[in-house]
Amino acid sequence: MAAQAKKPPVGYDDTPMIPGSKWRVHDGTRPQPKVIDPGTPSTLDKPGRPPSDAIVLFDGTDASRWVGRDGGAVGWKVENGEMEVVPRTGSIVSKDAFGDCHLHIEWAAPAEVKGSSQGRGNSGVFLMALYEVQVLDSYDNITYADGHTGAIYGQYPPLVNATRGPGEWQIYDIFFVAPRFDGDKLVSPAYITVIHNGVLLHHHQEIQGPTGHRVVANYDTPHGPTGPIMLQDHGDLVRFRNIWVRPIEGYDQG
Ligand code: MG
Repeated sequence: MAAQAKKPPVGYDDTPMIPGSKWRVHDGTRPQPKVIDPGTPSTLDKPGRPPSDAIVLFDGTDASRWVGRDGGAVGWKVENGEMEVVPRTGSIVSKDAFGDCHLHIEWAAPAEVKGSSQGRGNSGVFLMALYEVQVLDSYDNITYADGHTGAIYGQYPPLVNATRGPGEWQIYDIFFVAPRFDGDKLVSPAYITVIHNGVLLHHHQEIQGPTGHRVVANYDTPHGPTGPIMLQDHGDLVRFRNIWVRPIEGYDQG
C-alpha cells in the first residue's frame, strides 16, 4: 500500500503550478527565505551597521580589501573611519569581483568649495571597474546634465538632483545587473537602479556600454561576468565610508 504523501504544514499542495516554475501557487514545500539581520540605517553623523550577510569592503578601519588600479598599494588616506582620495595616487579597486549586486556606499565632497562644474568634488563609483555612477559636488553647481552627481556618466542625467551640501554625507544604494555576453555577442546589456539619499535617480535603466568621455558608449569589447568596484581619483578630496556589497543571486530565475 502506497504511503499517503505528507501534507505540508503550511500552504497548499493542490494549487496550480506557477508557469515557468517548479513550485505551486502558495506551495508549502517551497524553501523559506534566508533570515538575516538587516543592520541599521546611517544618519548624517554616523554610519549604520551593514546587513549581516553583506560583504563589507570598508568599515572605517583599513583599506585592506582594496588595491591600486595598477595593482600597487592603495595611496589613499584612512582616518577617522573614512577613506579619502589622495590626489594623483590613482583610482582604487576592490580585491573582490562582483556581477549582479547591491552596492551601498557613502561619500562626502570637501566642505570647502573649490572649483566649479566637473572640477568640484569629482570622483566616481565604477561597477565592474567599467560603468560609472558619477560622484560630484552637484550642490548649487551647474555642469552638463549627464555629468551631475548620480549620472550614468555621459549617458543619463539623474532624474533629480538630490545632493546634500558640501561636506555632508551622501548615500548611494546601487542595484546593478551585469551585462551578459555569449562569445563576442552581447546577449543582454547592463541595467542599473540608483537611490541617492533615499531618492530614486535611475530605475532599471539600461546602460549603453562602459563609461567614456566625449564618446558614445558601446559593448564592442566583451568582458567576463564579474569585475571589481572601482573608486575614482579625479584629483579632489572626496571621502568614503560604510561600503558594502550584497551579491544578487537568482536574477535570471525570473
Ligand atoms: Mg567622475
